[in-house]
Amino acid sequence: MKAPADLILLPQWVVPVESEGPLADHAVVVLDGRILDMLPADAAQARYDAVQTLPLPGRALIPGLVNLHGHAAMSLFRGYADDLPLMAWLNDRIWPAEKKHVSEAFVRDGTLLAAAEMLAGGITTCNDMYFFPKAAGEAFLQAGMRATLGMIVLDFPSAYASDADDYLAKGLALRDDLKDEPLLAFAFAPHAPYTISDATFGRINTLAEQLGLPIHTHIHETDDEIRDSLKQYGVRPLERLARLGLLGPNFIGVHAVHVNEAEIGLLAQHGCHLAHCPTSNLKLASGIAPVDRFIRAGINLGFGTDGAASNNRLDLFGEMRLAALLAKGASGDPAILPAAAALRAATLDAARALNLDSQIGSIVPGKRADLVAVDLHALSGQPVFDPVSHLVYVAGREHVTHVWVDGKLKLNDRRLVNLDIDDLTARATYWRTKLAPQG
Ligand SMILES: [Zn+2]
Repeated sequence: MKAPADLILLPQWVVPVESEGPLADHAVVVLDGRILDMLPADAAQARYDAVQTLPLPGRALIPGLVNLHGHAAMSLFRGYADDLPLMAWLNDRIWPAEKKHVSEAFVRDGTLLAAAEMLAGGITTCNDMYFFPKAAGEAFLQAGMRATLGMIVLDFPSAYASDADDYLAKGLALRDDLKDEPLLAFAFAPHAPYTISDATFGRINTLAEQLGLPIHTHIHETDDEIRDSLKQYGVRPLERLARLGLLGPNFIGVHAVHVNEAEIGLLAQHGCHLAHCPTSNLKLASGIAPVDRFIRAGINLGFGTDGAASNNRLDLFGEMRLAALLAKGASGDPAILPAAAALRAATLDAARALNLDSQIGSIVPGKRADLVAVDLHALSGQPVFDPVSHLVYVAGREHVTHVWVDGKLKLNDRRLVNLDIDDLTARATYWRTKLAPQG
């Protein structure tokens, strides 16, 4: 007798992102939101009786991409302030606009818009950091997207919270409310060393250890931030965090553009993870992170889009390709970050940084069915010698045709299943009018 299944997917290639390479003529079988089996296509048809069998000719089936750093709600600031250095961009444009406009409604609408963009581009999980994470969590749940919600902390007031204690209390209460949601996970998200005091970092570190949660923070993004830290604390930010005991396998540092050999050693020695955001670093002229040295030091690396205000695309195919090319060009070593490693960074390695790799990040029976079908049969992709090479160097998010999160179909033949594009566009237009009434 055949075993029951919800779905049999029959792509041209399965790319599991595990030790085994691309598998031709294989099936992936899904039951109850989980990957039940991966086996030769003929055997799958003989062994399973599925509610639906979906042939995906010309498609590569990959694990859903994991966006290791973003501020989803900032999609509403897309193109609002361009062509400025980080501190001028933050102080003169972004922070004043956030102070004036950011609210629960803003975060709900912006996160929903971002979730739609990410899902349509094959991103099934994101590591988010923004104000009003409750509104963001509700939007991710409405979209049916997996997210690690940052319990954001700053040592200055915002419309969301008054001081560090208030931020922490609100974050922890939210986690208590939502921690049983299967699509949501939580991390502490102290914004950056230049916005967080030693005392606040200390509290966060204690709580993160007690609760076994990641700490997600911006680090060494610009030279200015390092100079200011030397003035204020007498040490560079990473050294300061090391002294406070924050570095460890639950630490996700974002950017790490300006780091010396000793700091790379510290990050490696403590098993820290890094979120590399090459487009954001280029656009804000922060510089180019020394990815070749991270890799040689054995640091686990994922990619992030950062927010749409500094990118301005939430496109992980774009980040993956740019990261691979920049690492080669900047180091003079064409062998650094080969295609398979870039794809693994965008999936399994990023999942590992979030401590979610037992659930997602690769196509393995038992893991959740977060799956993406990518069309490699476009004319621009001909001929296909190696689907993994094409996924990094040829494919773009426009080649994504189907997306499942937890076994649920989110993108069907390039159409979002449960999100209304007209409604999202109307909301974005509403906020554009509020942000720039004369525009
Ligand atoms: Zn950021």
